[in-house]
Amino acid sequence: MGKIQDYAIKNKILAKECVYHTWRDLKNKNGQTTGKMRVLVPPKSTTAMVEYMCPECKHESYTEQEWKRPFSIKCAKCGLKITVPKMKDAAKKEAKADNAKGK
Ligand SMILES: [Zn+2]
Repeated sequence: MGKIQDYAIKNKILAKECVYHTWRDLKNKNGQTTGKMRVLVPPKSTTAMVEYMCPECKHESYTEQEWKRPFSIKCAKCGLKITVPKMKDAAKKEAKADNAKGK
């Protein structure tokens, strides 16, 4: 890990200018947070830079692949499919649904 960080510093990339940037914890099959991934799509780029630590086998690697949603990568060692967990959008929708119920 650290390759994306180096790249961002070297190229003076600001997180807010990126097409996409996230850093997530990854859970294994037992629901334990044992891995993590960072995804960066530089400004005006369609290539996602991905760093990850596989939650199942702890393999750490860096890869690049075309940026598209839904985004997922495969662990180079054990073949685990790693998807970017949903967050804000899903959380917002859930919050709205809860509010609606309350009224
Ligand atoms: Zn793995």
